[in-house]
Amino acid sequence: MASIFSKIIAGEIPCYKVAETNDFLAFLDINPNAKGHTLCIPKKEVDKLFDLDESTYDGLMKFSRTVAVAIEKAVPCKRVGMTVVGLEVPHAHVHLIPLNAMEDAQFIKKESLSSEDFETTAKAIASFL
Ligand code: 5GP
Repeated sequence: MASIFSKIIAGEIPCYKVAETNDFLAFLDINPNAKGHTLCIPKKEVDKLFDLDESTYDGLMKFSRTVAVAIEKAVPCKRVGMTVVGLEVPHAHVHLIPLNAMEDAQFIKKESLSSEDFETTAKAIASFL
């Protein structure tokens, strides 16, 4: 069965898109640790990050760096952190999280955002790409 992220790639489930190439997609996490929390995924569906072929892995890291630089310009924060978990969605992904405190990296404190907040944030990040 296709992962929920493959359904997002196919346009079957909506997302707040930040960036897209032929091989990768970045969109806002629906239950963010902080405003601007973004997921970067390969369009190729593979469960675990380190099972990706080397070229896709390298491409995902490069893509994530580009998106992280844009997040840092668009969202006030001390820095952008990168985390890989994958316990919820079996489709390799990188979390890019604007950090102001250690709690922002801990997947405990969640930010409640309106759809307007999500839309404005996705557009703001995209404007720096
Ligand atoms: P992980 O698999 O790394 O443990 O967590 C998966 C992440 O994907 C979570 O932070 C969760 O909020 C996010 N997520 C799960 N389903 C969706 C979805 O349908 N849309 C979006 N934008 N994010 C999702």
